[in-house]
Amino acid sequence: MESPFYGDTVKSRPYSLLVVDDSQAVLPKLARALGPEDFALRVARTGPEVLRLAREVDGVVLCLSTSDPAAGVALLDRLGAAEAERTPPVFVLAPAEARAAWLAALHKGAEVVLTPWDEDELLARLLRGLHAHARLEALAVQVGELRHLSVTDGLTQVHNHRYFQERVREEFRRAQRYDDALSLILLDLDHFKAVNDRYGHGTGDDVLREVAAALQRSVRETDLVARYGGEEFAVLLPRTHVTGALTVAERVRQELGELLLGPERTLRVTASLGVSGFPHRTVLSPEQLLLTSDEALYRAKREGRDRICLHPQLSLFAPPTSQSS
Ligand code: GH3
Ligand code: MG
Ligand code: MG
Repeated sequence: MESPFYGDTVKSRPYSLLVVDDSQAVLPKLARALGPEDFALRVARTGPEVLRLAREVDGVVLCLSTSDPAAGVALLDRLGAAEAERTPPVFVLAPAEARAAWLAALHKGAEVVLTPWDEDELLARLLRGLHAHARLEALAVQVGELRHLSVTDGLTQVHNHRYFQERVREEFRRAQRYDDALSLILLDLDHFKAVNDRYGHGTGDDVLREVAAALQRSVRETDLVARYGGEEFAVLLPRTHVTGALTVAERVRQELGELLLGPERTLRVTASLGVSGFPHRTVLSPEQLLLTSDEALYRAKREGRDRICLHPQLSLFAPPTSQSS
């Protein structure tokens, strides 16, 4: 029954199907019809049992009863509304006379096969639906992986520059609209060229990875850590005034200073950090937020490195609307 149409989603293990059949009359016939394809059949009777087991199977076969076909459609609704991580495809086996019910099932996205069914047709419809669903799930996984790759820096696994640029703009707009605070820390490792020169680029790369991990550990989940450039990182702190950002910056500076790095775990690094924040009269755009943090960072370099500078025009007094971290 395999077709080239199904491509690489053909599964190596049998499909598992949950059969929901109050009359219990369908199961033997179904087992006979599906036998050659080696399906693993499971049975559920009550609604809660169906909802629980549906998460574990590749598909659900829902048999509508002649006496109360609407009950099956109601179960279909509950399956769709379960908001589980995954909803398996549903195949409705319905008596032709329960027209309103099976039409409703079709509208809700289920495959419908009328009873008495043609065994070959049933098998073909089941396989087509299951293959299509498996392919969609595989694609969803790939999309997730690609999305992760597109926003992640390959070396350090923190966010990349492009994602940071998007988020700084988005967070700036949000802060402006809700009259909220937003801070930015730019961090540049001190004399990093000397690390490469002395220990080689491989160790330099390892150091960047460990610095990124330490940064990620020292901030909140709602803060955003990104690799801004070679040995330069950015930490965006939503809902945080510069006073809070300075506290975070000091924690980061100390934690980086304590890291023991390199092959012998004897190498230490320091960093210079520049802090700026919104709201402030000189920070009226995301570009100005970046520029002022950058100016503060270069001031920290000029003043001797291994230190934090707040942009000189920013005040340490938080306006009443803002929150510090
Ligand atoms: P400063 O204290 O003024 O920042 O000195 P520095 O040596 O850190 O600054 P400089 O800008 O002169 O050099 C940055 C160095 O960072 C040079 C470059 O080789 C290194 N670097 C940038 N990206 C990477 C990377 O991905 N891997 C490694 N190993 N090194 C990198
Ligand atoms: Mg640099
Ligand atoms: Mg540097």
